[in-house]
Amino acid sequence: MLTYITDFIVAKMGVKTTDSDEGYLRLILYVAAGYSGFVHVLLLAFFVIAAIPVMAVINIASILVYVACILFTYHRHYTVAGLLLSFEIIVFSIVTMLLTGFYTYVIFYFVLVLILQMIIPYSRPWVRAAISALIIALLLFQVHFEAGYRPLYSLGDYQVAFSSLNISVSLFAVAAELFLSTYIKGIIAHLSALREAELESLAHTDALTGLYNRRYAERYFERIKKEEPRRDWCVAMLDIDFFKNINDEYGHAIGDLALVELAQFLRRRLRASDVIFRWGGEEFLILLSTRNRDVAAMVLEKVREGVAALRTTTDTLCFKFTVTIGVAPLDLDRIDECIATCDARLYQGKEAGRNRVVC
Ligand code: GH3
Ligand code: MG
Ligand code: MG
Repeated sequence: MLTYITDFIVAKMGVKTTDSDEGYLRLILYVAAGYSGFVHVLLLAFFVIAAIPVMAVINIASILVYVACILFTYHRHYTVAGLLLSFEIIVFSIVTMLLTGFYTYVIFYFVLVLILQMIIPYSRPWVRAAISALIIALLLFQVHFEAGYRPLYSLGDYQVAFSSLNISVSLFAVAAELFLSTYIKGIIAHLSALREAELESLAHTDALTGLYNRRYAERYFERIKKEEPRRDWCVAMLDIDFFKNINDEYGHAIGDLALVELAQFLRRRLRASDVIFRWGGEEFLILLSTRNRDVAAMVLEKVREGVAALRTTTDTLCFKFTVTIGVAPLDLDRIDECIATCDARLYQGKEAGRNRVVC
């Protein structure tokens, strides 16, 4: 369910996870415009029932303004959307007060606009501060103006119902917007964190095999040096024998397939505590979670045998290959030297005829 909502927010509402400020702005504008549009549908029904056509028409106009507001948000015209939202509420409130009188709690909508200026950063702060000042000025003006004012329409029996509706929808909106602004920030932060984790994992993963890449190996060594300095490791360099021949004979794509199958095999065969990096083209660096050379040799001998027994197959092909492996204990203070030792032993293995483990 949460994944569905997240996908919907990202894909359909165009919320970018790479820019959390914009993501928040989009969502809060959608919520504010959507809710306001819904309120005007309620008010439209109310004025149809109360038989005041002018007010019904005004509410239809307001609904259209919110449709425009949502479209402007969708097309990233946030300032226009924010201004439309603010001025619709202001104009609607003034017109409603002039037509139906000052004692229907329409005034609460002004409070809502004030809060929207604070929590929706649709424009620069001075623009929102100016609108806030305008609202306060209008409220002060109203205090002077309302005494003795005679509205054009009398709501009669509907006065209480209209006031109740205004109080409910405006104060609910204030509470909901304040709550949602925090909630939406949480959703956006969550989306950004997911995206960041995804990017980070992409940055340290080899695209072909899905194994860690060489760049990540350096960070990994730094990490274990700091976090687990006492843990023992053996390091091994594994290289496919005559890999160039596979490419030459079957083509590069089949070579890639062999690399992917080897990576999957290594993952299956080694323990979760062992770490595998794609070091270069057809070379893999393996960190075995043991310092005991005999144990490492035994594990890697099984790997070598397993690879030799592996069959890489396609619809038309079936071939096999072998690997040569050089192993050394890992000294975290002399990592480069240990890897050089592995390389030297790997080379010895190649010289001695390949398909072997050299400790
Ligand atoms: P040796 O037994 O001495 O290791 O012989 P080799 O043929 O495996 O070694 P060599 O270093 O001569 O050739 C390695 C080949 O690996 C050459 C290169 O084209 C190929 N290669 C490197 N990266 C990739 C890759 O990502 N995909 C494919 N298909 N081939 C690759
Ligand atoms: Mg090779
Ligand atoms: Mg090689």
